[in-house]
Order: sequence, then structure tokens, then C-alpha cells
Amino acid sequence: MKNYDAIVIGGGPAGSTAASVLAMHGRNVVLLEKEKFPRYHIGESLLPFGFFTMERIGMLAKMKGSQFVKKFSVQFITTDGRSSVPFYFHTHLRHEAAQTWQVLRSELDQMLLDNAREKGATVIEEITVRDAIREGSAIKGVKAVDKNGEAHEFHAPVTIDASGRDAFFITRNGWKIRDPYLNKIAVWTYYKGAKRDPGIDEGATTVAYVPEKGWFWYIPLAGDVVSVGVVAEKDYLMRRTKDLKEIFYQEVDENVWIKEHLAIGEQFGPFRITGEYSYRSRHCAADGLILAGDAFAFLDPVFSSGVMLALRSGELAADAAHAALSDGDFSAERFTAYGAEFCKRIESMRRLVYAFYDHKFSFRDFIRKYPQLAGSVTDCLIGNWLVDFDPMYEAMREFAGNIPEPLQHGKPFIAESAAVQMEG
Ligand SMILES: Cc1cc2nc3c(=O)[nH]c(=O)nc-3n(C[C@H](O)[C@H](O)[C@H](O)COP(=O)(O)OP(=O)(O)OC[C@H]3O[C@@H](n4cnc5c(N)ncnc54)[C@H](O)[C@@H]3O)c2cc1C
Repeated sequence: MKNYDAIVIGGGPAGSTAASVLAMHGRNVVLLEKEKFPRYHIGESLLPFGFFTMERIGMLAKMKGSQFVKKFSVQFITTDGRSSVPFYFHTHLRHEAAQTWQVLRSELDQMLLDNAREKGATVIEEITVRDAIREGSAIKGVKAVDKNGEAHEFHAPVTIDASGRDAFFITRNGWKIRDPYLNKIAVWTYYKGAKRDPGIDEGATTVAYVPEKGWFWYIPLAGDVVSVGVVAEKDYLMRRTKDLKEIFYQEVDENVWIKEHLAIGEQFGPFRITGEYSYRSRHCAADGLILAGDAFAFLDPVFSSGVMLALRSGELAADAAHAALSDGDFSAERFTAYGAEFCKRIESMRRLVYAFYDHKFSFRDFIRKYPQLAGSVTDCLIGNWLVDFDPMYEAMREFAGNIPEPLQHGKPFIAESAAVQMEG
């Protein structure tokens, strides 16, 4: 049995960031990760505003010294191969953050985990959290099992769940609420020697449409490797076959640009698949508990928002935990502002994701009609999510009828009022 100020479950970007920030606050924090790093993970394209969290936790020099491909823009390609004008981040953001990276997640996550260690966090790999330790309504620690099957208990007044899409607490508490519309699957693989656009566009993320509410990502990585995958609804992708390779090539035939870019490359490694239901937890926190990153919410990855949300929420959750430790108050209510800020960021992006999947919407037509709103679109695409996007989404409704209202859930679980509601 070990006592800490704080426990972090999971060593992805959210967890490692949270552990780094808590350690930098001088807190005695332990991070528990079930895998041995480096381990494979999807989620390779970063957003410019991730820069500021990286800067705070001392990761910038490491990123600049890495082999990661520099990313300056994102572009959108129609099914017949026509491209939007690329959204170059530096035309809107006059800051070095405008250049971001395409990463190998095994390497990035190892760097972030090592960084947490360097900052003073205790990091334990190959240990799986299996249970929570509760006292009344409060989370007071976790029970975990190491690779030898040995059981351990970790005690702390505050726990940050950053367990990714395993979503430890969401799953145990039945808190997962799926987005009714964003229910896709992804099939992807890797290529060596595929075509890269020249100059500044070499590291661009390309999002290329397929006809039925779907899209390809094309992400150039270091070592002349390209990550390429297709995302669409399951019934559409599996309409002819369930074989992943056949599904992949059936869709490559649906986009001229993708087909041409892959033609000179060589596919390697497995074809992979994952479900991609977007979801958000009913609650962002409880007494002694904060959820961060995908362990709180997952949003369709079309605009590469996941790692940025994970970094920022890890940072915010750690600050909230530090303040709770300072005040000796770990009640769920005090994490209200944390949840509200996280949800606001997600909503900024979620509305754009809905517009993207509307058949009538195209970036090209939207910007042609509203050139003055190109800056707002870029703000959203770079992760500057706290600005006011209402005027942009008002204008977008002309092109996309399905732009949603904000979801109401994601507030802390207040044990007393929940009990009263249940009695009522
Ligand atoms: C197809 C697809 C494409 C994507 N593309 C992009 C992209 O281009 N750009 C982008 O920014 N995002 C992308 N994402 C999203 C991105 O992968 C995630 O949002 C991001 O990894 C979330 O980070 P995290 O730290 O919350 O979780 P994770 O990175 O998943 O880390 C969670 C960690 O917790 C550990 N863990 C889980 N359960 C336990 C347990 N019980 N005990 C101990 N440890 C545990 C796991 O082993 C894991 O290491 C994509 C996602 C998908 C599905």
C-alpha cells in the first residue's frame, strides 16, 4: 500500500501531461500505465495550439530536436481530386506554434512519459488498474495488478483517469453517452515511398473525401512513411466485404488524389481497424476524481483534435487537482470549471465535424462566400477553441443544416444532488 498526493491512470498524452504538471507543482504523483512503452498508438497529426502545453511541460526542445515531420497546413480534397486552398496555419497565427508535427505516437508517448519521470513523477509501467478504492462517494485510490499478477494498492485524495478509450471510470460507472450521429469506423495502414507534395506542403495533413459521408487521412511521417486510412460508417465500408485489405482498396478507387499518391508507394504492415463512436461521459469528475483526454470524451478524429484535447485537459486536470490539494477540498463541485472549459473546447470542434459530414457543405464554397470567416475556420483547425465561433456557425448553417446545439452533459457527479434526483 502506497500513499501519494495524486494518482494518474494511463500514460498517453493526457496522463503524462497531468503527471508532469503535478510533479512541477511539487506534488508526489504516481502514474500507472498498463503497457510497456514504446507501444503502438494511432493519432499521429498534431495541432498548433498543442505547442503551449508542450512549452509548459518542457517538451519543446525535444520536439524540435526530433525527426518528426513538420506540419504547416491541412488541405481538403474532393472525390474527383480537386483541392481546397490549403489552410496554412502561419497566415493566421503569427507565432512559432503555427508549425506543428506529424508524429510516430510510440515515440511521442515515450518522450512524454520520460518527461513526466524527469519532472519527478513516479511512473510504473506494466501495471493495470482494476478497481477503485472508495470511501462513501469519494475516490481515495486504486487497486492495480502488475505483470506478475501481484496486487497493489495506491492511495491518494485525488485520481486523474487518463485511461484513453478504455475509459476506466466511464465504463465502470455506466457514464458513456454516445454521439447519435458520429458513429464511424476506420481502416488504415502504412506506405513507404508514396508521393509527397513539394516544399512546405510536404508535411501537410490531407483529408480526402469518399462519396458516402467518409474521408481518407493522408499523414506523411518520418522515414518516407505515410499513414493512410479511411473513415466512414460501418455499413457503407463493409457493404461488399469484411476483409480489411479489400475495404481499403475499394475506397482508394473512390478518390483520384489518394489513388495517385499511393500508386508509387509500397504498402507494409497490417491493415488495422477500430470503431470510432464519438462519446462524452455523463460526468467529468466526482469526489476525488477527474477524467481527462479520451477517458472523458472522444471526438471523431477528422480534424486531428484528440492529442491536443488530451494535452490540454491533462494540464487543466492537473491544475485543478493541485488547487484541490492546496485547499484540502476534493469535492466534485470544485471541478465544475474544469469540465465546462473542456466541454467548450470540444463543442467548438464538434460543430465543425458535423458540418464536415453534411453532404451540402464544402470548405471551398463556404470560404468563397464568406472569405472574412476564413480566419475563424483556421482558428478552429489550429485548436484556438475558446474564441467565439457563433458567427461562423451561423453562416455555416446555410451550407450544413445539421450543426448541433451543445450537449448538456459532462458536469461533475454531485453525489448528494444525484441521490435527491433519484429519490424524486
Ligand atoms: C482512427 C483514429 C485516428 C486518430 N487520429 C488522430 C490524429 O491524427 N490526431 C490526433 O490528435 N488524434 C487522433 N486520434 C485521437 C487520439 O488517438 C486520441 O485522442 C489520443 O490518443 C488521446 O490521448 P489520451 O492520453 O487521452 O489516451 P491514450 O493515448 O489512449 O492513452 C491512454 C493510456 O492509458 C493506458 N490504460 C488504459 N487503461 C488502463 C488501466 N486500466 N490501467 C493502466 N493504464 C491504462 C493505455 O495503455 C494508454 O497508454 C485518432 C483516433 C482514432 C481512433
